[in-house]
Amino acid sequence: MEKNLYIVRCGEVALKGMNKPYFERVLLERVCRALEVYEDAEAKWIDGLMFVRVPEKYNEDEVIASCVRVFGVASVSPAVEAPKDINEIGRIAGEYMLKVIEEEDIKTFKVKGKRADKSFAVESPEIARQVGGMVLKACKVLSVDVHRPDCVLTVDVRREAAYIFRDKIKGFGGLPLGTNGKGMILMSGGIDSPVAAFMMAKRGMSIEAVHFHSYPYTSQRAQRKVEDLVRVLAGYMGTVKMHVINLLPIQEEIVKNCPEDETTLLVRRFMMRIAEQIAIKNGAMMLITGEDLGQVASQTAEALVVTDSVVSMPVMRPLIAMDKVDIMDKAREIGTYDISIQPYEDCCTVFLPKHPVTKPKRERIEKSESALDVDALVEAAVASEETIEIRP
Ligand code: ATP
Ligand code: MG
Repeated sequence: MEKNLYIVRCGEVALKGMNKPYFERVLLERVCRALEVYEDAEAKWIDGLMFVRVPEKYNEDEVIASCVRVFGVASVSPAVEAPKDINEIGRIAGEYMLKVIEEEDIKTFKVKGKRADKSFAVESPEIARQVGGMVLKACKVLSVDVHRPDCVLTVDVRREAAYIFRDKIKGFGGLPLGTNGKGMILMSGGIDSPVAAFMMAKRGMSIEAVHFHSYPYTSQRAQRKVEDLVRVLAGYMGTVKMHVINLLPIQEEIVKNCPEDETTLLVRRFMMRIAEQIAIKNGAMMLITGEDLGQVASQTAEALVVTDSVVSMPVMRPLIAMDKVDIMDKAREIGTYDISIQPYEDCCTVFLPKHPVTKPKRERIEKSESALDVDALVEAAVASEETIEIRP
């Protein structure tokens, strides 16, 4: 069976020194899992590059898309293999470029020679010169342009064979999933929290999600929107566990017993407490939120301090210093934006105060909270939790 070849490069994994074999092994496992949908696909490391072979019948763009979604992958190139003989390399490079010009409007090219195997007799500039000459002979319409070519053809002569390829398709980089503990993302239906989850997962952190709703004030459709968002994330991370909790009983207590302008902040403190309990139960070591400094009243520096003071687990806020437009761009890039902008109520908007406090004082908030049986409310909420598994 004929198989297409793809060269997969890792970014930071290559810099890992002593731990490199561990990271390489996990990255290989992750790539293999992403390739499970292609029967008889295989992947292995050879001298710092990963070689993926997938039967020809599978669409090349889809295979590439599967590979670049794996965190830790820096880039992917579809490639062809040649024996280590300069004439054979030239012949195969010529055939390769003939196919390229059939499909694309390319007039100029240049060849870049690389010689990882120093025992190969032809040196890099000479590889480029000779192969370039043979490609010119094979493809009469092409000419060489070393400054601004339409296409750069790389010839990489390595220990076991020579490889010929052009475009590198960029991956997300980062580190393989599962190499950096587990975090619990507080997941709303907004633009920010899915991006926050993605960014932590990209650094190797396994993710579970907790979502609060205020049913029947928020609709079932609103929850389905959050599930849709998590499903997009699952496309990068594999199945994600989502813990769902009805916050309405707590919100009603707050509205009944506490000052109106503190509602949002008090609700957020409960969210953090409950999320921390769920995290402990499920082996997560950090909380993650999509908060962004100054974006709304509950995200001023003072408000963040008051929210954090109710938990002892570290709270990661990967978006904290980003501008909203950049977060929106990231959301578009990862494919969550169009779902996030669907107009469904979030539990935070159900009892939104007209003039929320922006510079809360911890003592005042604690005093307001003393009207509530905090522990009992948290315990009841945690006990009511439902878990759903969301598959890609
Ligand atoms: P997002 O776009 O992520 O909803 P936002 O800018 O709308 O963020 P808020 O609504 O104040 O900001 O929420 C701040 C953070 O609190 C969110 O990023 C998320 O981590 C968490 N959060 C908000 N609502 C919920 C919810 N219903 N369930 C779980 N977490 C939530
Ligand atoms: Mg929100």
